[in-house]
Amino acid sequence: MDVAQIYKDANALLEGHFLLSSGNHSQFYLQSAKVLEDPKVAQILADELAKQIKASGIEIDTVCSPALGGIVAGYELARSLGVRFIFTERVNGEMTLRRGFEVKKGEKLLICEDIITTGGSAVEAMKAVEALGGEVVAFAALANRGFCERVGGGIKRKPEAKLPSNKPFFALTDFDFEMYSPEACPLCKNGSAAIKPGSRGN
Ligand code: ZN
Repeated sequence: MDVAQIYKDANALLEGHFLLSSGNHSQFYLQSAKVLEDPKVAQILADELAKQIKASGIEIDTVCSPALGGIVAGYELARSLGVRFIFTERVNGEMTLRRGFEVKKGEKLLICEDIITTGGSAVEAMKAVEALGGEVVAFAALANRGFCERVGGGIKRKPEAKLPSNKPFFALTDFDFEMYSPEACPLCKNGSAAIKPGSRGN
């Protein structure tokens, strides 16, 4: 499966000068919502991810995604795996389980994002469900943004990676784009200003 081509076809692989949620700048931005706006494409991607997870033999009771970015990918993955789906959301900055969602003691959860960069939000979601007695057994994303090491992937874990190194991370592909701190950004040096993609209606 050519995930990069699917992103390009959906105009979801943006080129420009972007401010990422980590505070770093990049020439590229992945707008997964544009890929997932077609439910048929979302299902194809989720089925492929589910196939990898099933092949691993890992047992999963529930998929949990951090809102908002992970919800569509996580929901489709849960459907494909035939398991329950819940999501965490931030309340005053803290990742929380709301809306009557419950986690049972010993329940096995997979945390799913659309894209995993360092995995910061995914780890916050993990802590939220583990505080309630759940056990996070794996992580998944449509794509790995190049810091974490996925099962069967070609990228080695980088120091910025926050996903626990002892838990498997499944993704369909690696997007290993360069990222720059604002001080070292060559695009800034050329005089352009970084924009936050989600904030401009694109
Ligand atoms: Zn810049």
